[in-house]
Amino acid sequence: MSEAPTSPVLVLHGGAGTIPHATLTPARADAYHAGIRAALRAGYAVLADGGAALDAVVATVMALEDNPLFNAGRGAVYTSDATHEMDAALMDGRDRRAGAVAGICGPKHPILAARAVMERTPHVLMGGEGAMRVCRDAGLEFMDPAWFGTEARLAALKTELARRASGAADTRSDADKHGTVGAVARDCRGHLAAATSTGGLTAKTPGRIGDTPVFGAGTWADDATCAISATGQGELFIRTAAAHEIDARMRWGGQSLEHAATEVIEKLLAPIGGDGGLVAVDAQGNVALPFNCAGMYRGYVRGADAILMSAIHREPWRTEAA
Ligand code: ASP
Repeated sequence: MSEAPTSPVLVLHGGAGTIPHATLTPARADAYHAGIRAALRAGYAVLADGGAALDAVVATVMALEDNPLFNAGRGAVYTSDATHEMDAALMDGRDRRAGAVAGICGPKHPILAARAVMERTPHVLMGGEGAMRVCRDAGLEFMDPAWFGTEARLAALKTELARRASGAADTRSDADKHGTVGAVARDCRGHLAAATSTGGLTAKTPGRIGDTPVFGAGTWADDATCAISATGQGELFIRTAAAHEIDARMRWGGQSLEHAATEVIEKLLAPIGGDGGLVAVDAQGNVALPFNCAGMYRGYVRGADAILMSAIHREPWRTEAA
């Protein structure tokens, strides 16, 4: 399905993986749906007002970073040293302008740190003290490290460290290991943008950087093809250049968004053990949300009637007026 050229589209994810029905009580599922819808509303308000796709994806990701249920900003998972190292990226489909940060802890909204790199430096990807300086100069709000943590994330870290110490097999669901948030949008002028933000993997080695801030892996936007935000084991999205592979299949192979996105998840990632998914939109307003695992927190809003759609497992979708 494609949309009229002026019709805005917004799609988001809140992480993919095995999301056990057993631990996902109805109350918890409701909380995830509410979080997805609140973030969709925040971003769609920008688009409905005639705003840019870039601003809409930032607003959407900020809402998810504020929500401790999702692994980004507040609620980010811990490294094996019990610290937080967050990655975030933003890309504008109009001109492929892009900004990203890797391994940071401080700015309340890591996606604003990515935006500061894009808008205030000649660089694309920054980390370390230099990135912090850019954020401070931009006047971003900073929080103490403790503010980003939650009891649930700490418990997940302790369980994982104990498992490693005992040598037992890893039986955690994917949802306990990682997660990410991301959004893609097409605005009423037909421009595309993508934003992704993550705490990475629970108990990751300090210094590890995932696919989120690697353009062409976990984040990508070009008006000529599509905007993409991915979630899953980041190393495999980097090794397959997953987001850019979708762009290339559309650009040079003439594949549709749905075809390209589904094949990358199923034929490129799956054979090397990659579980995950992505959200995507193209210049015509087509939407794809493929994933090869049990679930992906996700939602979208599109079309003149602007119905909010949200889902966790393959079915059911919940619908609600915007
Ligand atoms: N892609 C993220 C990373 O590897 C994690 C995730 O999406 O679950 O850092």
